[in-house]
Amino acid sequence: MTAIRVPGAPEIEDGVLISTNPASGAEAGRVAVADAASIGTTVQRAREAALWWQALGYDGRKVRLLRWRTLLAQRLEELARLTNLETGKPEADAIVEATGAVEHLDWAARNAKRVLGPRRTRTRLLVAEHVGHLEYQPYGVVGVIGPWNYPILTPIGPISGALAAGNAVVFKPSEYTPMVGQWLVDTFAEVVPEQPVLQAVHGLGEVGAALCRAGVNKVSFTGSTATAKKVMGACAENLVPVVIEAGGKDALIVDEDADIAAAAEAAVWGAMTNAGQTCIGIERAYAVAPVYDAFVAAVVEKAGKLRTGSEIGPITMPRQLDIIRDHIQDALAKGGRAVLGGADAVQAPYVSPTVLVDVPDDSLEIREETFGPTLTITKVADADEAVRRANDSAYGLGGAVFGKKNAIRIARRLRSGMVAVNSTLTFVGMGNLPFGGTGDSGFGRIHGDDGLREFARSKAMTVRRGPSMLPATTFERTPAQVARIVKAVQLLYGRGR
Ligand code: NDP
Repeated sequence: MTAIRVPGAPEIEDGVLISTNPASGAEAGRVAVADAASIGTTVQRAREAALWWQALGYDGRKVRLLRWRTLLAQRLEELARLTNLETGKPEADAIVEATGAVEHLDWAARNAKRVLGPRRTRTRLLVAEHVGHLEYQPYGVVGVIGPWNYPILTPIGPISGALAAGNAVVFKPSEYTPMVGQWLVDTFAEVVPEQPVLQAVHGLGEVGAALCRAGVNKVSFTGSTATAKKVMGACAENLVPVVIEAGGKDALIVDEDADIAAAAEAAVWGAMTNAGQTCIGIERAYAVAPVYDAFVAAVVEKAGKLRTGSEIGPITMPRQLDIIRDHIQDALAKGGRAVLGGADAVQAPYVSPTVLVDVPDDSLEIREETFGPTLTITKVADADEAVRRANDSAYGLGGAVFGKKNAIRIARRLRSGMVAVNSTLTFVGMGNLPFGGTGDSGFGRIHGDDGLREFARSKAMTVRRGPSMLPATTFERTPAQVARIVKAVQLLYGRGR
């Protein structure tokens, strides 16, 4: 645990993945790399564990998931320290992240029965002699593939939904954060020692690809849009359904009646938290002309106080530094201006806060996910132009609106899965709200009722409770009965409204 290695991509030595801190190179830990055979065995063990887990029922699973939640809450600081060691993320940020994970676990445990449990449906007149029953049954084994940027919160969302729904989970953490992933699996095993209901497989991308092909019944992927396409390709081979939580280019709109100080504070946090390595991070701001100058000044004043190495942690993935540098240089080359940071902001492994204005719409900073502590601010004539330009993106993940009179109307018009009004990123912390995007940001939902249903398939049943007045599903119906069906349909549905 004490060796100092050169900061950079994780190394594999003799089948062992060595995880290091991106700033100091300190070793965070080692895990064995899985191969196709061991992944197959892991999925097979999960399939058996799933039967036991499913048989516990909603109440049995709830007790155990709440025990895990309690353990996570009690050991929050230990988890935050490990996350800091492995990713360089400031401990305070890791605590905020872990807090969100605890919330989602608690919510999924408490609500699975209500959302997924058996219920009777209302009778329909044409088939009044049948009662409808609906329930949601688990898929079996769910593969969860996670990224490194929020190694606690992003996997816990789908893991808690999948487990609460009655599935076993095989989790492939990012190669940059295997130790945090393993810690989650190990602590689950402390409270559920009987069966391997939650397991991890470690390694590079090929391990994720092998997991998709190892007989899992559903895959939940969180990561980049490019990798999402590969995951879908692998899953397509066996028609394995997927939920995709991919990248974003989220926008924040500042309307003329916004509280400018609050908008600036939120924009700076939304853009710079976790050094900008946030899928729902604010990367673009659109401020209406009357408040533009005041907003830019307030953002620069607040972002200028942030220091790399304290509030702004290192960039976890070394190759991301080149992408961030390219985006900044491209913006400047195309006529943008840096009002904070700029061309020299990238000093590996850190990037100092950078605020860019007058950045043309065709530049990388506007079009592609930067994933660093940069923010563009664009002046717009009014909220309509702000919405149009915010929506002019292949991505559609989250977003934010600051304003009073029209803020909610503007929020509705943003083409995204989530939006925060007068704050940023808040929706990710509410267990009862669904989370997910549109377009290149993916599809399907984690969190909330939708996030539970994502990990279960609906099972519809009809149960006859008497003879048919309108016997449609038999060869033994008479012409008079068919005539009665016609009459009934016309009576029920043939009279306009
Ligand atoms: P990647 O897409 O590079 O990796 C995500 C996961 O997929 C990793 O575990 C990775 O393994 C694995 N993987 C890589 N190649 C394959 C493959 N061919 N088949 C199966 N799995 C594979 O994303 P990052 O880890 O770099 O995460 C950053 C991205 O995630 C950003 O785009 C960010 O916006 C997005 N994200 C989206 C969120 C959302 O909820 N919408 C939340 C958080 C992040 P390995 O690391 O070993 O290569």
